Amino acid sequence: MFHQYEPIVIEDLHSPDASGSKSPILAASGVRGYVCIPLWFKDHFEGTLTTTFGESIHVDGPEVQTLVGCSMHIAAALAHARLHAAIEDEHARMRTVLDQLPEGILLVEAADECISYANAASVSILGVPLIRITGFPLSKLAQSRVIADMDSSPIPLEDLPVVRGLRGQTISGREMMVTRPDGSKVVLLCSAAPLLTEYDVITGAVVVFQDITERKSIEQEKNEFLSIASHELRTPITAIQGFAEILQMYLSRGDSLDSTRSLRAISGIIEYSQRLTRLIEEMLDISLIEKAQLLVNLVPCDLLAILTHVIESQSITAKNHQLRFVMEGIEANDRLIGCFDEDRVMQIFHNLLSNAIKYSPAGSEIEVGLRYTQDRPDEVLTWVKDRGIGIPAKEIPLIFRRFHRINTSNRFIKGLGIGLYLVQELVARHGGRIWVESTEGVGSTFYVTLPLKTYYK
Ligand code: ADP
Repeated sequence: MFHQYEPIVIEDLHSPDASGSKSPILAASGVRGYVCIPLWFKDHFEGTLTTTFGESIHVDGPEVQTLVGCSMHIAAALAHARLHAAIEDEHARMRTVLDQLPEGILLVEAADECISYANAASVSILGVPLIRITGFPLSKLAQSRVIADMDSSPIPLEDLPVVRGLRGQTISGREMMVTRPDGSKVVLLCSAAPLLTEYDVITGAVVVFQDITERKSIEQEKNEFLSIASHELRTPITAIQGFAEILQMYLSRGDSLDSTRSLRAISGIIEYSQRLTRLIEEMLDISLIEKAQLLVNLVPCDLLAILTHVIESQSITAKNHQLRFVMEGIEANDRLIGCFDEDRVMQIFHNLLSNAIKYSPAGSEIEVGLRYTQDRPDEVLTWVKDRGIGIPAKEIPLIFRRFHRINTSNRFIKGLGIGLYLVQELVARHGGRIWVESTEGVGSTFYVTLPLKTYYK
């Protein structure tokens, strides 16, 4: 390819020497001197600088020299504008990409130690409008005490990941707590690194952070669960040991195994062993769910028979409550055939009934209900209604979560916070739904729908 680097200078368009380059239009317009300088910046052609004169000029004359001198600056200015536009384009493209990331990203300029860029995720994680994030000075950030360590102690300015990034350090996986303007707290997992030029000059720092509030609260609940679980397991073991020692003492004193005292100790051992077995089975179920290995064995069976059995067996143990079975539009000798895992359906209702008993006062009534779902004869609606302590409205969306327990003033109500989570999983595996309606101090009704026949092969 032909590259013209030298200026094209025509000293006099009217002279006979210029006849080869003579343009009839230029000549007719009275132009005599003509200069065209290609504008090159490094290897990039930026355009030309063309000038015409009414007088003849000289190739080494001051006009040409001035133009050549200017042309270098003009080429540099044009290149700068072109590169600037390209960088702007690149930034705009980068912003579009960064705005799609789930992680929050902040850029801080070293020159003024202010936040110069925040992506969309950081706006929503921090709960602060973009306009209030950008331009925010780091010094104010430390003063505002919105950022704290996990133990709630404020983080000094020089220890903030972004400030350490500005000092040239790379920080990864630092957990911090941020208080949003609405007062809510969010746990962040932060990493920061300096932004360096090709000559290792720090021009700023980048901070990347993830919202791990949910993960953290599950972790905390899991830890609480482990401490409650070990306590819950120890209680029946201690009781069994106690009963066994009593039994040993009676026998060594010549008591027979069928004496009233011995029989009481034996039934104590049986009762606490059953409690222990139930606890261990529930824990095993949780780990099966986590490994996606909790399977149900769906075979055709009669839901009414299962429910009747559960209520009868619970009535024996729940001597302090009145259990009532209500059927609407269903007769006692009807058969509600669907595909169920009989043991698991029993587990669902045993759990709901035990909770109803546990969270309602002695002597109160518990209602178990059954009817076809409105408009759907292939589905039944069951409910377990108690007149107990009820559930605060803000807790209702949380109670089906693994390890979630409501902090009640009554510390004697024991539990692991896994029952409802298991129940929800089991109901879902039967193609059903579960929800609760509750009023604090009035009582709760847990509803479960289960499909009939649809699983029938
Ligand atoms: P837990 O073993 O603690 O009872 P669950 O998963 O069965 O665990 O229940 C989770 C929480 O939901 C309980 O800690 C309790 O606060 C609340 N809850 C469950 N059932 C009832 C109910 N019938 N009445 C009031 N609160 C209930």
